[in-house]
Amino acid sequence: MATPLPQELIVRLRRFIPAERLVSDALRCLAWGSDASFYRLVPQLVVVVDDESEMQRLLALCAEFNAPLTFRAAGTSLSGQALSDSVLVLLGDNWQGMRVSADAAVIHLQPGVIGSAANRRLAPLGRKIGPDPASIDAAMIGGIAANNASGMCCGTVENSYRTLAGMRVVLADGAVLDSRDADSRANFAQSHAALLRGLAELSRQTRDDTTLSQRIRHKYRLKNTTGYGLNALLDFDDPVDILTHLMIGSEGTLGFISEISYQTVPEHAHKASALVLFHHLQAACQAVALLKPAPVVAVELLDRASLRAVQNKPGMPASLLELGAEGAALLIETRAETALALSIKVQAVSEVLGRFELAQALQFTSDAAESAALWNVRKGIFPAVGAVRPTGTTVIIEDVAFPVERLAEATLELQALFQRFGYPEAIVYGHALEGNLHFVFTQDFGKPEEVQRYSAFMDAVCQMVVQGYDGSLKAEHGTGRNMAPYVELEWGAPAVALMRRIKDLFDPQGLLNPGVILNSDPQSHLKNLKPLPAADPLVDKCIECGFCEPKCPSRGFTLSPRQRIVGWREISRREAAGEEAQALRAAYDFQGIQTCAACGLCATACPVGIETGLLIKALRGRQAGPLARRVAEFAADHYGPLTTGVRLALGAADAIHGLVGTGPMRSTLDGLRKVSGGRLPKWSPALPRPVHFVPRPAPTRHEQRLVYFPSCAARNMGPQRGHEGVEMLPNVAERLFRRAGFDVIYPEGMAALCCGQPFESKGLVAAADHKSAELEAALAAASRRADGAGHWPIVFDTSPCAYRMKKFLAGRLPIHDSVEFVHDVLLPRLDITPQTQPVAVHPVCSVRKMGSTDKLMAVAGRCSPQVISVEAVQCCGFAGERGFMRPELNEYALRHLKAALPDSCNTGYSTSRTCEIGLSEMAEMPYQSLLYLVERCSRASTPSTSPAAAD
Ligand SMILES: Cc1cc2nc3c(=O)[nH]c(=O)nc-3n(C[C@H](O)[C@H](O)[C@H](O)COP(=O)(O)OP(=O)(O)OC[C@H]3O[C@@H](n4cnc5c(N)ncnc54)[C@H](O)[C@@H]3O)c2cc1C
Ligand code: SF4
Ligand code: SF4
Repeated sequence: MATPLPQELIVRLRRFIPAERLVSDALRCLAWGSDASFYRLVPQLVVVVDDESEMQRLLALCAEFNAPLTFRAAGTSLSGQALSDSVLVLLGDNWQGMRVSADAAVIHLQPGVIGSAANRRLAPLGRKIGPDPASIDAAMIGGIAANNASGMCCGTVENSYRTLAGMRVVLADGAVLDSRDADSRANFAQSHAALLRGLAELSRQTRDDTTLSQRIRHKYRLKNTTGYGLNALLDFDDPVDILTHLMIGSEGTLGFISEISYQTVPEHAHKASALVLFHHLQAACQAVALLKPAPVVAVELLDRASLRAVQNKPGMPASLLELGAEGAALLIETRAETALALSIKVQAVSEVLGRFELAQALQFTSDAAESAALWNVRKGIFPAVGAVRPTGTTVIIEDVAFPVERLAEATLELQALFQRFGYPEAIVYGHALEGNLHFVFTQDFGKPEEVQRYSAFMDAVCQMVVQGYDGSLKAEHGTGRNMAPYVELEWGAPAVALMRRIKDLFDPQGLLNPGVILNSDPQSHLKNLKPLPAADPLVDKCIECGFCEPKCPSRGFTLSPRQRIVGWREISRREAAGEEAQALRAAYDFQGIQTCAACGLCATACPVGIETGLLIKALRGRQAGPLARRVAEFAADHYGPLTTGVRLALGAADAIHGLVGTGPMRSTLDGLRKVSGGRLPKWSPALPRPVHFVPRPAPTRHEQRLVYFPSCAARNMGPQRGHEGVEMLPNVAERLFRRAGFDVIYPEGMAALCCGQPFESKGLVAAADHKSAELEAALAAASRRADGAGHWPIVFDTSPCAYRMKKFLAGRLPIHDSVEFVHDVLLPRLDITPQTQPVAVHPVCSVRKMGSTDKLMAVAGRCSPQVISVEAVQCCGFAGERGFMRPELNEYALRHLKAALPDSCNTGYSTSRTCEIGLSEMAEMPYQSLLYLVERCSRASTPSTSPAAAD
């Protein structure tokens, strides 16, 4: 049991950290406290720290009150090192800094930067960061450095330890050292002379101890993240350099990394990959040893069981299905600066492989899409096992390393252990070039005998890796709690004694992430196991990896997708066990249900394909009750009058706005909303003025036709006040379509038509489907060609509606979103004269989900020399009419927008009118449909014949 935190600590923290960043409610402590491992500790307090000085004061206070604390970056760790039952420290918004040196040789990164964001910054310069964990799209620099994470290419040469160029660190007493700054080094040498002397002494003693220093050198011939990075004591003379290199892989147990400078590594433009199939695993492993000196950057081994898990995925060769039970594969990549150099390398690798009898002719591909498919399949192996595991079990990934020359032997021995301990489903794969193998298996921790089986299995594995091969028990995932009891087995007592002295020097009170890396409890890896109860089939396969979190607009505001699942699992567990769950349920209503934008972006990053928004919509549907469902059915049946009501309300709001002005209107309505307890909708100066679109008959002029469906929003919501000269969207869209040579047809009875999206997002499935079916019938009738040749294209101006109907229709009608239609069909038919001003674009969630973001950028790029898409903004959080009732989510999701836009940019474009309301307000400039931009830039083309042109 953790010692309760003293109240006085919290009182003192409140003096410099605002209350909203000191979180102690049960739901958020549980949900924000979970990481990707199979351990659970629930923090008593979560502190969101915004800058270094807060971190210094927090550390000093925790030292004063003897309160243990754990730093957290993205929480994707697998070994239980990002957990706390005391104080969990999360990073707020202000840790995203990135600076690249003029020659791009060094990048300076704050710990909250996501690894792939750093690479996106470096990519145009032909560089990248060295460490390359498979989790790089979610993992943050702080965690990558503190775990010394690595992946398929970086090996032992390009990891954080080897590419470290300098570091700024906050130590347990709150002191700051910047190794890149001579003054800071000098000051630190004075203030922390004892620490530096201690490190220098440890270094001297280690060098003098030939047996120990040889052992250390020998251990680091392989990838190794078990224990502290003792090689720092041998590799560096200056104690400050020893200190900073010990921080790498220290898993938050020695101090806080507040900035890191990495030497960047080349990112070659030319790449070729091959999936090489072997009849026997031994042959594949022999090939690995021969490939070691060959010009390859990555060689991944996949045993037959892992191949079976992914053999039906797109991109996998059909011949894989025929590979025998003893077979295996190597996935190989080689890279070069030029195409010629690449072909020479491919030739060299092919010669090595030519010595083996392969199960399929060797074929390298340099096609980016084909290569990406192969590597994505490889990255998906671990989740693929997670996705098929029985509900209630955990998927465990282990991470060991063997000498490459003994890889075959070691793999076979591992496979024998799987059989012996009853894990026939276990798979082995990994970074073979480094002898680094992962094995993945499923485990039930619900029964004591199962925990015992796991314990016996891990004992046997560890004995085999250490005694049979002198290998590494953790090659890249970090020691955590999971391997802490085995550190001495791997390293021996003298090395562990050295590690303890290091820990004592840095953290004499033992407050930084206690129990991680060094743990005197031999059973610590079997304690605090996380329950994974059945909660809902929509999310039961979740492995709590956290990959979805960067996509979510409510992450950090309320809950992320992973945290919604963690919360719902706990509520379900408690209710199934007859335990009290009411308080959690009550908190979950706002944190989980009300503040989910139901955008579905989480699904785009989830390796097991979970869309947490579907769970939330289902919960909303269950909450709705029979009365709400009847009201929804009534609204669906009376949609025309309903939209008239919306128009009237918008008209009234606009009239009052015109009379009283923006300031008084805002303060009055904000006040009223407050008094109503949030029951009144939010008023925004960007609120649309009402319009009423009624199609006008037009002469038939073109051979080509299209059906245009202006959404309810486009038909009823016009430009905002202050943009009186701007036409309503349907008029502009129609003119554009005609200009490109299409006659425009509208479905009959349009005033009452809707795609159903507003009902779907509330979980009112029946009403939503009813509206979709109605719209399908109207669109089918309108688009049917008289010549019997199928249907004319049907174009939607609003992306969420297009997305919903595409899903609903499953290909029955040719639905086109405006982005893809403009890009694929209209642009080639129009003369575009780009404007000179920059434009901002916002790809709405449905554009992202339809994979049209690049098309949106391309269309905007034809119309403007500078297109700005703010990377920090994913979903805008407006979520249809929810933006009026829960505006906090929209405000939070767009908090970085305005600052990220240059002053020279004064218009934004998107493809959803409701999203544009929030975007316009938060950016303080109008956002409108992309169709406006294209229409304006194509005015020099063939003059329109549309009556709308006269508007
Ligand atoms: C599906 C999946 C695949 C993975 N693949 C790989 C892989 O290929 N290679 C690999 O190495 N790992 C892999 N991991 C593990 C993990 O993602 C990485 O180790 C990652 O680098 C952790 O980063 P994070 O931001 O999530 O850190 P966190 O999990 O939040 O923290 C990691 C550790 O760093 C400490 N810490 C965090 N920030 C700081 C800081 N600023 N200063 C000091 N200490 C800090 C924490 O206390 C913790 O001990 C994988 C995980 C998953 C779920
Ligand atoms: S929903 Fe998917 S991405 Fe998110 S934590 Fe679960 S498995 Fe990972
Ligand atoms: S649907 Fe959107 S808001 Fe909801 S959990 Fe997923 S990413 Fe977050």
